[in-house]
Amino acid sequence: MTFDSTVVGESSPRILILDDELFMLKLLNHMLGMRGYTNVTVCEGARLALGKVGDHGAPIDLILCDLNMPDIDGLEFVRGLVDRQYKGSVVLVSGADERVLQAAATLVRAHSISVLGYLRKPVSPQALTDLLGKWTRGSERPGRNQPLRDPQEVRFAIASGELVNYYQPKVDLVNGHVVGVETLVRWEHPRDGIIMPDQFICVAEEHGLIGDLTRAVTREALNQSRSWVDAGLNFEVAINVSMDNLTSRDFSDFLVRQTALERVDPRSVVVEVTESRLMQDLRATLEVLTRLRLKGFRLSIDDFGTGHSSLAQLRDLPFTELKVDRGFVRGARDNQIIRPILEGSVGIARRLGLQSVAEGVETEEDWHLLRELGCDLAQGYCIGRPMPSQELQDWLDSWRSRSVALLAS
Ligand code: C2E
Ligand code: CA
Ligand code: CA
Repeated sequence: MTFDSTVVGESSPRILILDDELFMLKLLNHMLGMRGYTNVTVCEGARLALGKVGDHGAPIDLILCDLNMPDIDGLEFVRGLVDRQYKGSVVLVSGADERVLQAAATLVRAHSISVLGYLRKPVSPQALTDLLGKWTRGSERPGRNQPLRDPQEVRFAIASGELVNYYQPKVDLVNGHVVGVETLVRWEHPRDGIIMPDQFICVAEEHGLIGDLTRAVTREALNQSRSWVDAGLNFEVAINVSMDNLTSRDFSDFLVRQTALERVDPRSVVVEVTESRLMQDLRATLEVLTRLRLKGFRLSIDDFGTGHSSLAQLRDLPFTELKVDRGFVRGARDNQIIRPILEGSVGIARRLGLQSVAEGVETEEDWHLLRELGCDLAQGYCIGRPMPSQELQDWLDSWRSRSVALLAS
């Protein structure tokens, strides 16, 4: 069965509820109505719901979807949404345990459908209110994966200086002081505008261009670092380096030469090691990294907890900093799975005497949790986005007052 309730203001999302239990449909519809959401359609079966999504009326903005249904279950229904190029958001509803709900949410996101979150049955009114509060028009279209760039074009971009460095601030969680910046490369394409690294770094790695790219980024970052020191800003500067850069001593020699040339203290340079592929030869990497440490450079294990950034690497390589991947930071306070992982990672760093850094700090709540956990440094949109060097001074001015407020709250 289906029934439609009244339609209100234009900005109110058009909501569809899908559940095989009539009682749940009525209950959720009632709860939505109490909150002023009256532009609601309810469906007792997935087939009917897919028909509503595919029809030519006003598009559905949000679907509350039960996972456990006979016939077509919630996961299969989501595949139907993909086939129909559904552009709205989804909230998953189920009595299943938290881990199953999280896995289902990850799966839906992997289909490039936006998931506002999940609700466990029995649905609490507050949880429903909180999730609906996350919905805004236009937020439902998640960034689709952009295509990779052509290797010849990447080669040209590196050689012709189309790559520019952006810098994202890293701040001390105890006192809000700015300790440094991370260098993040951007490609200023003459026709396509700013291109993000996920569209060309792996191309550079696969086509033997990553050495040239890293050297170009590093030269500019160290040159910039010199001007910050001259301007009285004692920033440390971090650069991202792929494992592929670390297989011969060329890179350590280059870094030593370049810091000497720019008169930058190696102790203020952090090399963030990201590993997208399995390490080819531990001995070669170990030699390069150990040499860098001997020369005073600092080493960070980036994206800790993902891919190959593992406990084994932490055991074998001489890192000075542990950077918790942003997938374990955002929203950790109320997440029973990522919070223990975040706490554990900060704890490991502390016990090994490493500086801990959390990336992806997006909200004040993330910030406060990290302070409670004793994490050392934070980086993320809530503090400052990556920016061109000429915008840093304005950011610093605004951060001074914002950090005072943040620390007092
Ligand atoms: P990463 O090293 O983990 O860098 C952090 C990424 O998180 C950056 O993405 C940054 O813009 C983003 N970010 C920062 N704060 C937040 C936040 O609060 N929320 C969210 N959702 N994201 C945040 P970006 O700049 O797109 O870089 C992506 C990756 O590309 C980097 O990940 C790094 O692995 C790689 N990369 C960037 N520059 C270079 C480079 O010069 N060389 C190499 N080898 N890799 C680079
Ligand atoms: Ca990094
Ligand atoms: Ca990361």
